[in-house]
Amino acid sequence: MRIRVLGCHGADCLVDGQDRPIRQESCGFLIDGSVLLDAGTIGARLTLSEQRRIRFVLLSHLHFDHIKGLPTLVDNLAEDFSEPLIVAGTEPVIQGLRDHVFNDKVYPNFFKLPNREQPVLHQLVLEPGKPVTIGHLEVMPVPVNHAVPTVGYVVKDRQGAFLYSGDTYQTEDIWSLGRMIPELKAVFLESSFPDELGALAKKSKHLTPSLFLKEFQKLERPDLPLYAYHMKPEFRNRIEEQISRLGIERVAFLDEGQSITV
Ligand SMILES: [Zn+2]
Ligand SMILES: [Zn+2]
Repeated sequence: MRIRVLGCHGADCLVDGQDRPIRQESCGFLIDGSVLLDAGTIGARLTLSEQRRIRFVLLSHLHFDHIKGLPTLVDNLAEDFSEPLIVAGTEPVIQGLRDHVFNDKVYPNFFKLPNREQPVLHQLVLEPGKPVTIGHLEVMPVPVNHAVPTVGYVVKDRQGAFLYSGDTYQTEDIWSLGRMIPELKAVFLESSFPDELGALAKKSKHLTPSLFLKEFQKLERPDLPLYAYHMKPEFRNRIEEQISRLGIERVAFLDEGQSITV
């Protein structure tokens, strides 16, 4: 799988880079051009033809930073599509999109547009713990420990698998599942706040660097590449410093625009 990082931060922010400013953006990961994992960033990073290649949008939870690219993606596709876009998530996520986003107030109801017979947006309701085929991928949603109903995912193709934590605080099930997957090739794990904001992390159900290490250790696979993501932009440098001191063998910090092959 080739995973293209459209956004990998816990918010959007323009920050100083070496030659020019860098755009840090909310989470969106495009797998093999056709499956989008979380929808925080889409249209700002993809051409229209790239957007048209997306067949599935797989959501971890309903928080705005993970869905906010979806309405305008659907809008871009609505006038000219051969196949509908399938949005996949657990029941509270799909129902939340219908109630709070595509409700004809915040945004048009694209589950019924451009017409009821052939709407551009279709839903696929996922059940936690039940694997499902999404295009060429096999995907397992696993509940994690966040402020709202959230799942992480284990995503597999024929070559291997990766684990995506979703937004989470300390959790168990996704690691016990991960331990049973020998073909696991990489882990994407959130780390939102620096250690000194541990109380805020606990309250908002996110990880800090020291918890990030403890969570990863539950997998018992120190050999795996570990990608830190969902850093809040204002704390990115401190989070990076703190994680770098932990002695994790193959840890890396994601940046927008990079691609990871699993
Ligand atoms: Zn988030
Ligand atoms: Zn969240």
